[in-house]
Amino acid sequence: MRKKIVAGNWKMNTTVPEGVELAKAVVARSAEVPAGVGLIVATPFTHLCPVAGVVGGTRVELSAENCADKEKGAYTGEVSAAMVASTGAQWTILGHSERRQYYGETDEKLVEKVKLALANGLKVILCVGENLEEREAGRHFEVVKTQIENVLFQFTAEEMASIVVAYEPVWAIGTGKTATAGQAEEIHACIRQILAGHFGAQVADDTTILYGGSCKPSNAKELFAQPDIDGGLIGGAALKADDFIGIALSF
Ligand code: PEP
Repeated sequence: MRKKIVAGNWKMNTTVPEGVELAKAVVARSAEVPAGVGLIVATPFTHLCPVAGVVGGTRVELSAENCADKEKGAYTGEVSAAMVASTGAQWTILGHSERRQYYGETDEKLVEKVKLALANGLKVILCVGENLEEREAGRHFEVVKTQIENVLFQFTAEEMASIVVAYEPVWAIGTGKTATAGQAEEIHACIRQILAGHFGAQVADDTTILYGGSCKPSNAKELFAQPDIDGGLIGGAALKADDFIGIALSF
């Protein structure tokens, strides 16, 4: 049975002391959230060690927001999957649209990143989603299908147990424009169908598929009520513990 998850993507926000306080506030309210809902905070690399000290031994899991597509060596400024794992983080987000858009992250690079993350024992939140132009051209299903084929189809059914998919329509990220529950559900159902076609019904049924894009306490309930939406990847609203927990209480 797939797991429900609410993951907060802090992006490039908070200093280390602010991040530690935010993590403490999330932990403090985490007991209110039903036990079946996984809670993850995804922090900048600089925050992973101190935040691991806060969330370690609690139900809140820790994620990076990215990792390198190379194992180790002369790649100045990069952070490897092994380094992320050594902080105590259990997860990494990969393929966020901001990485694809601003840092040239291609599906080919993502395959390498996912391989290295899994090889180092990290679980992966893989982001997919169309931009506004693609949505307006009616190409959203095709775009998401191609991203899934290019990346996830390079992995096995067993490896899929360590991968969560996050559908994030780029036009809804940080814009205040949320996909309607109906728009999100139709893509989530389609993603599950694509997974079923390649990996079989069991893997499709067991894969957690998160929605991301201006999700907040006021709209999470309707989104999470959809049969194929298993939770959220939360950006802006994850920077306030009360909003993040409010979203996690929306199941
Ligand atoms: C995100 O960046 O993953 C995201 C969903 O951002 P926001 O909630 O701010 O739209």
